[in-house]
Amino acid sequence: MGETVKLVDNLGRRINYLRLSVTDLCNMRCSYCMPESGVEKLKHSDVMSYEQMLTLTQHAVAMGIEKVRITGGEPLVRKGLVKFLESMAGIPGLNQLVLTTNGMLLEQMATDLKRAGVQRLNISLDSLRPEIFSRITKRGDLKRVLAGIAAAEKAGFPIKINMVVMRGVNDSEIADFAALSLEKSYAVRFIEYMPVIKNDNWQSLVLTGEEILNRLAKHYSFTQVVRGGLSGPAREFRIAGACGTIGVITPLSGHFCHDCNRIRISASGNVRSCLFSDEEFDLKPILSTGSPASIQAVLRNLVMSKPASHGMTQTSSSHVPFAMSQIGG
Ligand code: SAM
Ligand code: SF4
Repeated sequence: MGETVKLVDNLGRRINYLRLSVTDLCNMRCSYCMPESGVEKLKHSDVMSYEQMLTLTQHAVAMGIEKVRITGGEPLVRKGLVKFLESMAGIPGLNQLVLTTNGMLLEQMATDLKRAGVQRLNISLDSLRPEIFSRITKRGDLKRVLAGIAAAEKAGFPIKINMVVMRGVNDSEIADFAALSLEKSYAVRFIEYMPVIKNDNWQSLVLTGEEILNRLAKHYSFTQVVRGGLSGPAREFRIAGACGTIGVITPLSGHFCHDCNRIRISASGNVRSCLFSDEEFDLKPILSTGSPASIQAVLRNLVMSKPASHGMTQTSSSHVPFAMSQIGG
């Protein structure tokens, strides 16, 4: 592909992390992500083919992307995923291929994902209590997700569990989730609720990372853990004597925008430089007809227009709902 300009934005942020949504479809309807009736499905012809995703990733890697997270919708519901992941894992220069899943199909797929070359899994789990889990996810089955986590562990994956914390919904379980890190080397992450779907009362659901840590401090003593280069925006801690870690991801209160290193591509080929920005470029037309130079020019322009920060805070009075399930979180 010759000499290629790397992705660095106007503020000098080096962009080396791509989140790629492979489908907008999902087998759950989490209350914070999708309305119960679902969102309007993409037309089949609007969803990028695996070949297109592969081409795009090859260009992105040539421009300095080192880590790709496969997401969705629920990535494991898309047919042919394992073969696609094998091809992705073979892209020279791609150092990390990781995936986020709700775990429903993990029990039967964990070994294949490992063999395909996926290095790590983030598993979303918002409650350890069956009724609360069902209330949040509508179509989820806690037993299946827990069996999926066990299968992933058996397949040799390090386990990371992401819990979206919501006041009055699952916040009474924070200490129980942290306890998962005591005996096993699980990384448990508490994520601040973000206003994604229309909800006039969204502020009341938010527990900031600080509040989560204060609550945990009443149960455990913990110290901060130093993390490496491509490790994402969590602040990480270890409870005294624990095998695993706990952490908070604070998209609202934490302002990790200053060293944000990521771009996102939706299943329909729209690329955006910030989750909360509504500026998107449609890559599909140039993927079928454009030259490598034009694809790279779009990625470069996108990165140059990456906002300094998203400006959304817990006290923001309004927000524009967006399709998290299409962008992939
Ligand atoms: N279906 C997969 C899953 O749930 O893990 C992958 C896609 S999902 C959109 C990716 C991540 O976004 C999940 O960890 C989910 O909990 C998180 N997410 C979705 N909506 C959110 C919201 N409103 N606030 C915080 N996190 C959210
Ligand atoms: Fe589906 Fe993931 Fe959204 Fe839940 S968070 S509805 S599992 S895409």
